[in-house]
Amino acid sequence: MATNLVQIENDAEIKARLEAERARLRKIAGLDQPTHFHRPIERAFTADQRAHTTILFGGFTWKHEDLIRAVFQGCGYKCEKLPVPDVAGFQIGKEYGNNGQCNPTYFTVGNLVQYLQFLEKEGLSRDQILNNYVFFTAGSCGPCRFGMYEAEYRFALKNAGFDGFRVLLFKDSDGIKAASGEPGLKFTIDFGFGMLNALHLGDVINDLVYQIRPYEVNKGETDRVFHEMVDGLCKDLRDRKSFEIERDGPEWLKPKVKKNKILRNTFNVFGKWHEHMWGKDYLNALRNAREEMNSIEVDRTRVKPTVKITGEFWAQTTEGDGNFHMFEFLEREGAQVLVEPIATWVAYLMYQARAHAKAKWPVNKPYKNPEWHEFKKHFANYIGLRKKLWGIGAGRKMWNFFYHRTADKMGGITHHLAPQQELADLAAPFYNQLARGGEGHLEVGKNIYYTVHKLAHMVLALKPFGCMPSTQSDGAQSAVINKFKDMIFLPIETSGEGEVNAHSRVQMALGEAKVKAKGEFEQCLKATGKSMAEIREYIDEHPELKRPFYHVPHREGVAGTAAQFILHVSDRINKDTRFQKKSRVPVQTPATVSGD
Ligand code: SF4
Repeated sequence: MATNLVQIENDAEIKARLEAERARLRKIAGLDQPTHFHRPIERAFTADQRAHTTILFGGFTWKHEDLIRAVFQGCGYKCEKLPVPDVAGFQIGKEYGNNGQCNPTYFTVGNLVQYLQFLEKEGLSRDQILNNYVFFTAGSCGPCRFGMYEAEYRFALKNAGFDGFRVLLFKDSDGIKAASGEPGLKFTIDFGFGMLNALHLGDVINDLVYQIRPYEVNKGETDRVFHEMVDGLCKDLRDRKSFEIERDGPEWLKPKVKKNKILRNTFNVFGKWHEHMWGKDYLNALRNAREEMNSIEVDRTRVKPTVKITGEFWAQTTEGDGNFHMFEFLEREGAQVLVEPIATWVAYLMYQARAHAKAKWPVNKPYKNPEWHEFKKHFANYIGLRKKLWGIGAGRKMWNFFYHRTADKMGGITHHLAPQQELADLAAPFYNQLARGGEGHLEVGKNIYYTVHKLAHMVLALKPFGCMPSTQSDGAQSAVINKFKDMIFLPIETSGEGEVNAHSRVQMALGEAKVKAKGEFEQCLKATGKSMAEIREYIDEHPELKRPFYHVPHREGVAGTAAQFILHVSDRINKDTRFQKKSRVPVQTPATVSGD
């Protein structure tokens, strides 16, 4: 019988036919061209454009952003912060962005497009927007979608009609430098130390707002005072005079530094560092800020569950639609929110750099298998790694030192940064610390850390939809919850929709946390052997106890602010015989005054 089937003789022929067919289909699909991605060449932001170019940025809390803007302005730049991303921005992000992105990408990308559209509505032409504005943002090489943010910004801007709008990365000097070598944004000593102060102050102030506001006696006072206080700090950061040895140095030194550039630069570096960290103006500004905050009257006997916020970097920081206004909601529901400082994230990056340097050293070391008698090579292998670790270690120490110093100068009640090594150790049985992306092992580590140290009644993880690292840690968290039975942990997936649903889930978990906080308070009150009337009478007689910066020593094992406070007041009453004699409320003998 005749057949149309072609006889194939051997494997080589099959392979050749497959190759030919693959090539044909790739050609039809337009995939026969080289497909390697090349980053588009960005128009440079040059020094001569500085006077008429506004730098846009965003993504932090209003406290961080006001302070960062002041540093930009103090260094001679025009700068504006973007509004807090909202649902309208999210929808614009979805309209103009790629499919399948994570939630923060849509919010932040849409927010930028929305702001440019607003400028257009205000009467600016597209050319004016393209030429007179640049957007600065952080960049990364991944592995999560953070590595694609820059490309996403460009894609959505192009789709929205703003093709050519400049998106510049802080880490990327190519986009910032002009062809002439004179960059539009110069990373000077003043800029660097100013930003360091702005970030640390932003973190500390953010922590303080959430510690003080739930206990304020006069509603609205905290917000008013903090806005005024941040304005004062911004004024200092913006208007401060930059140290110049030729102007501010002693007379005898001026002619010497004028002639010698190296000497001049060295004095300027140390002089500026001193001015930024220990300068009279800066310390005065911090003292004024502290006094303003300390004028707020607080009542720390209110029993509130402490809710620690963890999750993805952006979702746990933003104060708007991006996380369903979660902090505001929690406070409305009677909780005290424990926010996460950005400084933890930076400390985590440094911890990761150290861990990865150690893990990769067997591959990266200069001599792979030296003989036992090749001492020089062994020494080179040893010292090469040490040098790396010492450098990172010095950076970590300085970062922690300056953060905690800022916290001390601003009243001394800000929470300390959680130790990175302990977070990694706690997370280790559940999450490999070398798995990078997003918050990595941090979310698991923090959940356990705040639970076992009894620093919070409940941990709430805010995780954007479509977030790859959050999905990974969600899997690990179920094992964590099984091991720590008294843990109240709730992961909430944040998106542009579903606010009511998310709030109702939080309400349910918060109900349990409230019971936990109330039980702890009652146990502590019982242990003091005193009544609330007696404790209140003592507080009324000692107005310093109504000031936010009155220092209440921390007791191990007690998470609630009110419980900690009454234990401390009870200790004071026990020592105060004068009060005991004249008290109108009969003083009872304490059972045990303990934090357990
Ligand atoms: S951590 Fe998650 S939400 Fe954040 S950029 Fe990466 S993938 Fe997106």
